[in-house]
Amino acid sequence: MNRAPGKQVRSVEAVKQEFNLTLPEVVTGFAGGESLPARGDFRMTAISPATETPLYELDENNAEDVDRAVHAARSAFDNTDWPSLPHSQRKRVLRRICDAIEKHKDELAVIQSLEVGLPLSGIHAMHMPRTLENFDFFSEVAGTLAGESFTQTGNYLSVVTHEPAGVAALLTPWNAPLVLVSMKLAAALSLGNTVVLKPSEYCPYSLRRFVEVLHEADLPPGVVNLVNGRGPVTGDSLVRHPGVDVVGFVGGTETGKIIMTSAAQGLKKVGMELGGKSANIVTDSANLETAIDGSLLAILSGNGSQCLAGSRILLQRGIADEFIEKFTDRMANVRVGDPFDPQTEVGAMAFASHYQRVLSYADVAKEEGGELLVGGKPAPGFEAGYFMEPTAVLAKSNQTRVCQEEIFGPFASLLKFDTLDEAVAIANESDFGLVSYLWSDDLPTVMRASRQIKAGTVWVNTPLTRDLRAPFGGYKQSGIGRDGLRASVELLTEEKTMMIPNEPLTLPKLGLGD
Ligand code: NAD
Repeated sequence: MNRAPGKQVRSVEAVKQEFNLTLPEVVTGFAGGESLPARGDFRMTAISPATETPLYELDENNAEDVDRAVHAARSAFDNTDWPSLPHSQRKRVLRRICDAIEKHKDELAVIQSLEVGLPLSGIHAMHMPRTLENFDFFSEVAGTLAGESFTQTGNYLSVVTHEPAGVAALLTPWNAPLVLVSMKLAAALSLGNTVVLKPSEYCPYSLRRFVEVLHEADLPPGVVNLVNGRGPVTGDSLVRHPGVDVVGFVGGTETGKIIMTSAAQGLKKVGMELGGKSANIVTDSANLETAIDGSLLAILSGNGSQCLAGSRILLQRGIADEFIEKFTDRMANVRVGDPFDPQTEVGAMAFASHYQRVLSYADVAKEEGGELLVGGKPAPGFEAGYFMEPTAVLAKSNQTRVCQEEIFGPFASLLKFDTLDEAVAIANESDFGLVSYLWSDDLPTVMRASRQIKAGTVWVNTPLTRDLRAPFGGYKQSGIGRDGLRASVELLTEEKTMMIPNEPLTLPKLGLGD
């Protein structure tokens, strides 16, 4: 048991000294290559979730500021050669961005950890490499895209090309700040769009600093802009702005519905990457040790605050008891604590209301007749900070709230099943369909279940792997559209058909009279 009382957590000052970090007093937006001061009158104090002490003030950008940022993006799109740059030149910009991220990756990792409480080690191991990989990937692939041509229509040649969609508004959540924004941003830039970012109000400085780093790579002013503030204020003004052509959203399902409704007023293209309640099916034919390792990673990585968390663990009766015993023992031993301690496996929940909400599901589970197997309380020994014990409950049925609602923390809901058909039915009995996990060494089981599960990704005998060429996104209320090579092109470009006759035409002559 590693949760001994008296746990030490680095103060914000200690973090700043240890990592040689300077934090601004006030954070705002960025437009046209310079700071975008906030004209609104709303200010909120950003709090470190690990210490509950202030980090800086966030001055909210209002609708007028959003207008300035969109105009900067519009002007860079309409009046500069950015959208029509040859791929080789745009690729050079993206390569310079990779170099700038590489140079600042330690600082960017520390800021994210300070803002949202994720273990620094995980940000170094997974988030920064993925952020770099996103730019690296899109710097190469945009140059391999080809249009189409058709010759079947008699005398005509039809040529289909892709053009950049225009100004993209990209709104993103707090749970993996740079990974999530960089996926859409790298795609948008490589395809010639200009962008206005709207980060979560819980990680505004991570993205503000990131945008400054991008500009060290000689990104032309106005190509990437950023507005900061709350969703219903700053975010809503951005989505509704008539100068925005396309909205790429990553966040909660209910927010996604609001944003789609707002974007529909301007008939804007939307891409929606939303919530999940993913089934993690462990069959009798699984390699149990690997399944336990993978299931722990699937529900605890990123503090469990991941859209793709394996949060509903479905256990076949033959292995269920052994799985539960070993899984809960390991959960009880997970090192919860200072996000800056390299030994930490689960850090602090990102903000107070999120922490209270995740914890409240332990009572929900009990009220619904579930059995609390491990955790369910604030982690002991901390003087401050939003630390909770990793939690697992054995739920009474899949209809319970702990099996249907996205909890978004280190909280696993377990269920038992007898047959594969039953497991697939439970997996599919959800409003969500983002990903699923399947553990089995029996080929017919794998082939049948992976065909029948309604989810955008089925991970077989592995957790959390991604190939950027392949689409990522959700069935049902987990999203609309996909990220990935082809899917990003669909969202972030417009297709154009040009038709031209091969031989001069003799056209019917109207208006010649008698
Ligand atoms: P959220 O929906 O509360 O916020 C996401 C973004 O939308 C933030 O920038 C927020 O300020 C903004 N926003 C909120 N209300 C808005 C409004 N009315 N108009 C315009 N913008 C608005 O989500 P969150 O709490 O930041 O993140 C957690 C959610 O994100 C989870 O549901 C998680 O599953 C989801 N998520 C999905 C993916 C994916 O790829 N599918 C990835 C990561 C997170």
